[in-house]
Amino acid sequence: MTDFEPARRLVADACRVLAARGLADGFLGHICLRVDPELLLIRCRGPHERGLAWTTPDDVRLVDLDGTEAAPGELDGWAVPNELLLHTEVLRARPDANAVVHAHPPAVVAADLAGIRIRPVVGAYDIPGARLAAGGVPVYERGVLIRDRRLADEMVSAMGDRPVVVLRGHGVTSAGSSVQEAVLQAVSVDSIARISLTVLSAGGTLADLPTADLAELPDLGPAFTEGVAWRHEIARLDAG
Ligand SMILES: [Zn+2]
Repeated sequence: MTDFEPARRLVADACRVLAARGLADGFLGHICLRVDPELLLIRCRGPHERGLAWTTPDDVRLVDLDGTEAAPGELDGWAVPNELLLHTEVLRARPDANAVVHAHPPAVVAADLAGIRIRPVVGAYDIPGARLAAGGVPVYERGVLIRDRRLADEMVSAMGDRPVVVLRGHGVTSAGSSVQEAVLQAVSVDSIARISLTVLSAGGTLADLPTADLAELPDLGPAFTEGVAWRHEIARLDAG
C-alpha cells in the first residue's frame, strides 16, 4: 500500500494556509488531491472538527470518486464534505487537474456581490495572479450548496477551461495540477478581490493593466509555485 502520509500532510498544511490567508473564515472549506485515477485524499469532517486552521493529516481521508472509503477504516469517525461532488466532478471533467480547493473567502464574495470581476488590475505585484485574471475568472451565478451532480455540473460548466471559478454568494473553486498551485490561485484571486475593493473604497477606479505590460509578465511556472512561494506559505504558518 502506498504511503499517503506525505500527501495527507500536504493537504492538511494547505487547509491551514487557506485559513491563515483569511480565505476560510470559519470551518467551511476543503481541499482534495487525486492520488490515483479513481482515488482522492480529501479533507473530511472528523470527531474533533475545529475548522480549517486546525486541520491535521488525520482529517485527510482516502476515498474513491463516489465518496466511498478506499481502505478499511478511512471513514470511521470521519464524513466526506457535503460538497464532495464539487471536487469529484471537477476531477472527472478535468484530467489535467489533480487538486481542487474550495473555500468561502469573504473578500471574493463581497467583490462579486459589488459587481467587481477578477481582472488583471495588478501586474508584477502578483505575476501568476495577473496572468490568471487576464485569462478570465468566470462566475457561477448561483449561491447554492453544491450537493448533487446536477449543481456540480452547472458549476463545472461555468468554470469552462479556466482554473478558478467564483461562486456567487458562496466562495471560490480552484483546480490545479498540484495542491500548491490550486491554493495559490485561490490566494491570488482573494488578493485581487481585496485590492479591487480597496481601490474602489478609496474613490479610485479599476482598469486592466495595458496589454503591453501584461505581455511582459513572464510565466514563473511550477518551480515558483511549488518552490519559494509554497515554502513562504509554510513558513508563515510556522511563524504564527
Ligand atoms: Zn461551499
